[in-house]
Amino acid sequence: MSLWTYARIDRIESGEVHCIFCKRALRSGRLIVIHDEAGVEAYVGPACAKKHLGAPTEPILDLSKMAVLLVLKEAKEAGESHIALDSADDVGHAQPNGHRQLIEVDEVASYLRLRAEHMPGFSGNATQRLREFHEQLFSDGGLTDSARLYVERLLAKSKAANTIYSARNVERCIGAAYWLKVAIEHTKPERREFLGKMLRSLREHWRLTSKQVEGINKWGAGVRKTVLDFPVLDASAFDGVKVPRFGAPQNNGN
Ligand SMILES: [Zn+2]
Repeated sequence: MSLWTYARIDRIESGEVHCIFCKRALRSGRLIVIHDEAGVEAYVGPACAKKHLGAPTEPILDLSKMAVLLVLKEAKEAGESHIALDSADDVGHAQPNGHRQLIEVDEVASYLRLRAEHMPGFSGNATQRLREFHEQLFSDGGLTDSARLYVERLLAKSKAANTIYSARNVERCIGAAYWLKVAIEHTKPERREFLGKMLRSLREHWRLTSKQVEGINKWGAGVRKTVLDFPVLDASAFDGVKVPRFGAPQNNGN
């Protein structure tokens, strides 16, 4: 029997997926993803997650939040009712007295995981150094103090200067890539050129211009024929985000 652990919370826009334990169909929207020792992933409903895995001992990386970062406010509110597993939150720590304890998010660990695991195809998504730190996360000793300090400084510096490497921008990039992939998947292969170009541009520059987002929104109208709640994306999402003086991602992933 496999030993499952929590992998992340993610989104699925369409297509049937089933709970690995009870085989029930899970609705589109937010879903809990788990994986076994071999890295095989599966979806699970919140009730089955609790029953078979227990409450998580640390915060679950929530990629569904990143997708929502790009969504215009009105559309987001309208879309809220479509979220299948509001109760994904229910996998949060339930205390014996019924109060849910907030588990503090380790920003350094989640930043490393985002860069190393969830930015496939992005130029310089994680440098050698960040990859080493990422491996430390899963070692017995955990992250060394000097590694943690390095990432904390990187986070503070990139946030203050509002660069493409800031935690918030990394999240936006992951969100934008998510919606582009959904759009591509739901566009006929012979018509995917523009969207493919936008995805490549995003992965190269770690941001999109407002013109590019507007262009994507035009294609979104077509996507909505199959993905009914495909969102209108915020054209100003990447406004003001800067490339640091030393470098485009391909030279210096930071
Ligand atoms: Zn189930």
